[in-house]
Amino acid sequence: MAEAGSIAVLGTGIMGAPMARNLARAGFAVRVWNRTRAKAEPLAADGATVCDTAAAAAKGVDFVLTMLGDGDAVEATMTGRSDDGGVLATMRRDAIWLQCSTVGVAACERLGRLAADAGVSYVDSPVLGTRKPAEEAKLNVLASGDEALRDRCADVFAAIGQHTDWLGPAGMGSRLKLVMNSWVLAITSAVAEAVALAERLGLDPALFLSTLNGTQLDTPYAHIKGNAMIKRDFAASFPAAGAAKDAGLIVAAATSSGVQVDVARAVLEKMRRAVDAGHKDDDMAAAYLVTAPS
Ligand code: NAP
Repeated sequence: MAEAGSIAVLGTGIMGAPMARNLARAGFAVRVWNRTRAKAEPLAADGATVCDTAAAAAKGVDFVLTMLGDGDAVEATMTGRSDDGGVLATMRRDAIWLQCSTVGVAACERLGRLAADAGVSYVDSPVLGTRKPAEEAKLNVLASGDEALRDRCADVFAAIGQHTDWLGPAGMGSRLKLVMNSWVLAITSAVAEAVALAERLGLDPALFLSTLNGTQLDTPYAHIKGNAMIKRDFAASFPAAGAAKDAGLIVAAATSSGVQVDVARAVLEKMRRAVDAGHKDDDMAAAYLVTAPS
């Protein structure tokens, strides 16, 4: 297969690993780095080069893609506080930084300033979709940044996703990501409460989903999360720690823009309770467990 270009994927967790795998399948020369190296090593079987440092991974590539926990992790990795040399100092000046982690509004702007100071192109490109869409290359990319970069990024986004929206100046992608996650987190929390309420009222909780089925109230996500709660299957697709982090970003963005987000605040409190109860690495569906504690 003709090589599509070279890319460093920094962060090979639940999302970054399948994204790296799909980039390799699409013909990119992929270099990977993860703070815990053992999580990156399986990608060698997919043809990726596993690197000891983020800076080593970023050396000479066309694209650097970050898929790390939060804004602080991205900043530390890109500036080198957690690594020798730092990525921004090492990457080619004509390379493009694709920032795919969910970092919220303030960190997105901070990271954009770091890129500008380093003279590197920055595309704010968080993704919609969780573990399965990442594995199936069916993410939705919420891209924002300089329109002149759009064509150059197209093959990367096509390798990891089914659809890319270009939303305007850098930062609009991160803003839409918060809007979408406010919806996702609210549905998950509401489903946890409906399932728990059904059970405690003496109903089979499956009745909640079967009654929803096909009505105007229905949404596929209610079935995915509702069935997970009913089966007590909390294998992480989107970990509770990430959900609590995102709920915090939503409340922060709402507060600074004058929106009173009572539901998001309640979601934040519920997700934090799930984390505090030891479910940080479980799926956010574990919110159910702190809704109807035994
Ligand atoms: P994950 O499996 O927990 O992976 C997190 C990654 O960040 C790991 O590679 C971790 O390294 C790294 N990391 C954390 N703190 C770090 C630090 N201080 N320095 C260097 N590396 C650090 O999470 P994920 O689900 O893949 O999520 C990654 C990003 O995508 C997050 O921003 C998340 O909100 C977003 N996202 C997730 C989903 C989803 O459904 N899971 C969907 C869309 C977007 P270690 O392995 O060493 O811990």
